[in-house]
Amino acid sequence: MEGYKAPQRDAMFVTHELLNYQDHYQKLGFDEASEDLVSAIFAEAAKFSENVLAPINASGDEEGCKWVDGEVTTPKGFKEAYQTYVDGGWPGMSHPEEFGGQALPYSLSSIIAEWFSGANHSWAMYPGLSQGCMATIKAHGSELLQQMFLEKLVSGEWTGTMCLTEAHCGSDLGMLKCRAEPQEDGTYSLTGTKIFISAGEHDMSENIVHIVLARLPDAPEGTKGISLFVVPKFNVSEEGEKQDRNAVACGSIEHKMGIKASATCVINFDGAKGYLIGPPNRGLNCMFTFMNTARIGTGLEGLASSEAAFQGALRYAKDRIQFRSLTGRKNPEGPADPIIVHPDVRRMLLTQKAFAEGNRALAAYCMQLVDVTLYGSDEAEKQLADAKLAFFNPYCKSVLN
Ligand SMILES: Cc1cc2nc3c(=O)[nH]c(=O)nc-3n(C[C@H](O)[C@H](O)[C@H](O)COP(=O)(O)OP(=O)(O)OC[C@H]3O[C@@H](n4cnc5c(N)ncnc54)[C@H](O)[C@@H]3O)c2cc1C
Repeated sequence: MEGYKAPQRDAMFVTHELLNYQDHYQKLGFDEASEDLVSAIFAEAAKFSENVLAPINASGDEEGCKWVDGEVTTPKGFKEAYQTYVDGGWPGMSHPEEFGGQALPYSLSSIIAEWFSGANHSWAMYPGLSQGCMATIKAHGSELLQQMFLEKLVSGEWTGTMCLTEAHCGSDLGMLKCRAEPQEDGTYSLTGTKIFISAGEHDMSENIVHIVLARLPDAPEGTKGISLFVVPKFNVSEEGEKQDRNAVACGSIEHKMGIKASATCVINFDGAKGYLIGPPNRGLNCMFTFMNTARIGTGLEGLASSEAAFQGALRYAKDRIQFRSLTGRKNPEGPADPIIVHPDVRRMLLTQKAFAEGNRALAAYCMQLVDVTLYGSDEAEKQLADAKLAFFNPYCKSVLN
């Protein structure tokens, strides 16, 4: 968004003054995540949001993504912005050091995710989906699969997707039809079509790792017969190197009313090679690792939009002149005063500001709870944090169970 300013000061206020993140991080063993370090990370993330992402927001939406013969081209500047993001080490900020990450707390990378989204919603969806993909492989993938996929995802060289939706089933996933046939080498052959897949195809990374829900041949009907698979766009060796093209293709992209620079794709699996993650027929449970991440991300997108809308409205209210102030002229040289002088306009602006700031505080609190479930050592505290999270986000399955 043109003129976007990352709310650094408010983020420091809610995290360090309101919610005492300093103690929170120390208690969880993140001694290096001092107030100074957090403040420095916030400053860099603010620069990236304001100087790299915001300037290509409107142009990206006007240009949109282009689909030609299965290839998707993102708008001007998107690929370069993604490379700057990768070079800055942002993708792996909260992922383990063993895969090249910086092992910083989840909450830290999530707070700044709001700013990326506020500056450029469409762009932020590409790296956003990768976060859930990494979390799912880390939580449910075998050691071999972690070795094959995590390093390149953590570095940002590859991105990830979440493939649930099919044409006939969106919220009711029990009806999904995508099939997975076991192969002699222990892999699976996936056939079916997914729709609405965010970041399903694009030109920003070397490979795309799809996390796909599908049915095994003997699977029971409904949600108890769904399994989860990793299916890369390009096949991957056991050492994690990109190989030949897999049978995964982008059939088309949606023509949407907004976020047109985010590619929402039809993805066809035509006997594509995939790897089972998690136990057979328990795929939906495992996918909740991804969906919970995606839902928190979607909540942050709402917060980001409310902050961006407030900032836009504030700028307009200072610029647009209509009538005179009730308490005397505030712009005596002009023919009228800026509308920010009118009490009802101020009331509306303050309402917007209160929603954005209140939601930011709630988000920072929920992220603190997620940190406890991820890194805490006290089982009772973890269960309590999990229960509180379920209260604030009833659509999330328990993150622990
Ligand atoms: C921009 C965008 C990006 C997306 N990205 C992804 C992605 O990356 N991966 C992916 O897998 N999917 C993605 N989706 C798909 C999204 O998850 C589905 O749109 C969603 O699950 C809803 O499914 P549906 O659109 O088929 O609606 P339906 O399930 O057909 O629902 C239609 C309407 O009925 C309502 N409804 C349904 N059941 C009930 C009920 N029991 N009680 C009350 N109301 C009900 C719904 O709320 C909705 O209003 C994306 C969608 C969009 C728009």
